[in-house]
Amino acid sequence: MIVAMQDEAKEELIQQVIEKMVEIGFDVHRTTGATSTILAGVGKPGHFDVAEFQVLEGVHQAYRISSPYKLAGRGFRPEGTTITFPNGVVVGGENVTIMAGPCSVESPEQILLSAQQVKAAGGQFLRGGAFKPRSSPYSFQGMGLEGLKLLREVADETGLLVITEVMEISQIELMLPYIDCFQVGARNMQNFNLLRELGYVRKPVLLKRGIAATIEEVLLSAEYILSGGNYDLMLCERGIRTFETYTRNTMDISAIPVLKKLTHLPVLGDPSHGVGKREFVAPMALASVAAGADGLLMEMHPNPDKALSDGAQSLFPEQLEKLVAQLRQIAPIVGRSVA
Ligand code: PEP
Ligand code: MN
Repeated sequence: MIVAMQDEAKEELIQQVIEKMVEIGFDVHRTTGATSTILAGVGKPGHFDVAEFQVLEGVHQAYRISSPYKLAGRGFRPEGTTITFPNGVVVGGENVTIMAGPCSVESPEQILLSAQQVKAAGGQFLRGGAFKPRSSPYSFQGMGLEGLKLLREVADETGLLVITEVMEISQIELMLPYIDCFQVGARNMQNFNLLRELGYVRKPVLLKRGIAATIEEVLLSAEYILSGGNYDLMLCERGIRTFETYTRNTMDISAIPVLKKLTHLPVLGDPSHGVGKREFVAPMALASVAAGADGLLMEMHPNPDKALSDGAQSLFPEQLEKLVAQLRQIAPIVGRSVA
């Protein structure tokens, strides 16, 4: 941390700031200029809030230099994290992982057909919500436990892995036997109690960016899960809310290379929620991979016009197949491949 004192700040005030820095665990290096004094705090301080220094009497400005997240930072594992699933699928390696399926599990027929179509297109994961966070309480809320059982059944039948959303702590135990990866949705990115509990399970987690979350907030949420000892964590850019209304959200492609720089965790893109309109999903998927994404989470429905949720952004099965074929061509340009 750097603290720049106001010009002509009294020695007494400077000493107060130094004391507070030392209390936190900083080694303080002082530079006294003709008019102003700069205090540089180095070493390994405990947790601190830079805002507390910014408001101290005599302080002109205080800046944090080190990142507030330790386990999520790239420096913790410079080589990058890879997550290996029970069937050998690796996320975060050379292969770009394809996760696809409907927004929600709706019926045995719908989810079986979806699994077959995802497999045929070249996917590794079947997605589908059994517990759905809907903006309206009157919208379809998901099939619950029945949906989890169906996901497991059809995924085993087709040789896919299951990723599905967990909305609350009480669902964790219930879900464990049926799933391969927990998905934390945008609305729950800062549900810190849920994140903490997911840190204690030994099953991978995909954490989606909140609709108004900064990159630092995403990484601090990741830190909650990592600090519980669960290192099998991946992040997902799924669009943020901006002034633009033409698309459902604004897919922040730039978040992908930025996150890849700041963290060792695999980073995926969800172009479906990113744009909300089917016709723009493929270009955003291609852009995500070109930007360095380790995988994609996409909505596809056997009959999107009849979908109970997110039909407008769900790809037709043929579109997913065509898109994966295009991804296979884009990926090698950035040193990746699509199985
Ligand atoms: C979903 O994946 O269907 C979903 C609800 O996503 P998000 O949490 O990103 O809105
Ligand atoms: Mn959805």
